[in-house]
Amino acid sequence: MVVQTKFERGRGGLRSNTQTPQSLNGYFAETEHVMKGLKMKVKLIAHTPDPEKTVACAAKLCYAAADIDTVMDGLTDEKVASFLQMLADMGHDSPIEHASFTFGIEGVSRSFLAEMTRHRIASYSVQSQRYVRENNFTYILPPEIEAIPEAKEEYIKAMEEDMEHYVKLAALLKEKHFKAFTAEGDDEKTAARKAEKKAIEDARFVLPNACATKMICSFNARSLRNFFSLRCCNRAQWEIRAVATEMLRLVREVAPNLFAKSGPPCFCGACDQNTMTCGKAKEVREFFLNLK
Ligand SMILES: Cc1cc2nc3c(=O)[nH]c(=O)nc-3n(C[C@H](O)[C@H](O)[C@H](O)COP(=O)(O)OP(=O)(O)OC[C@H]3O[C@@H](n4cnc5c(N)ncnc54)[C@H](O)[C@@H]3O)c2cc1C
Repeated sequence: MVVQTKFERGRGGLRSNTQTPQSLNGYFAETEHVMKGLKMKVKLIAHTPDPEKTVACAAKLCYAAADIDTVMDGLTDEKVASFLQMLADMGHDSPIEHASFTFGIEGVSRSFLAEMTRHRIASYSVQSQRYVRENNFTYILPPEIEAIPEAKEEYIKAMEEDMEHYVKLAALLKEKHFKAFTAEGDDEKTAARKAEKKAIEDARFVLPNACATKMICSFNARSLRNFFSLRCCNRAQWEIRAVATEMLRLVREVAPNLFAKSGPPCFCGACDQNTMTCGKAKEVREFFLNLK
């Protein structure tokens, strides 16, 4: 069983937390803590080529007497930025759906998976616990638990017990299924393969939410903006907030205009959390302004 220990980010892997501006302590302290506590990896694997130009082209087609063969002509960087600004000013969001972004995410918990996949306007491929045996499973150690030695000890004990139950259940079930498959006429190799799959299908019910998982997900830019506004907020749970913040940093590298104003609602407007507000709008604004 492996405990996650580091935070890896971006296309190139590990980056130093020292890149964080010192002035952001109030907001960032928590995020930094998350980064130290996990081996969470977020990569931008692919995206629409020229995402901003593609969106600008869609906008131009709506508003100018352009045709398909010439619509891309004359779309300089300045014109692209101006079309994006026009869409934002008008609240005309559907053209930004033409740009999409694919991320690889690993070193995150099954709890994270449950929250992430609530975002329906996206596509997901997740490593299966039906097909991949969780022997020696990797789990996420929440930083707040890691910070208290007794809590950490209790947590690790729980993980080890879960693992023992999983392995025992898988063995018991496999034995039963193997007998049944051979009795039905399968040769030993086939029976063992089928029994293994059928066994782990049920044994996985004892696996914890802490179990690490990995996924590929794709969002269009409109859905991503909605995702960032909900999940970059301090009110979001720490794990999804750390991933969302990193996803935002990555897409800003390739589409700075499209995502210049993305982040929690208080980044470019007022906090919408009423009495649940974190009360740190100033620090949050500074953080997302400097997110690089
Ligand atoms: C701080 C926080 C706390 C939360 N707590 C809970 C909780 O306690 N329990 C819980 O169940 N969930 C909770 N959620 C999840 C939340 O309810 C949403 O399911 C999740 O954030 C996905 O948001 P979304 O629907 O906007 O995203 P998407 O599913 O990607 O949808 C994007 C947008 O498309 C539109 N849309 C999508 N589907 C429909 C539809 N069927 N009908 C109409 N419009 C649609 C909506 O405008 C929506 O905003 C929480 C989320 C946050 C950020």
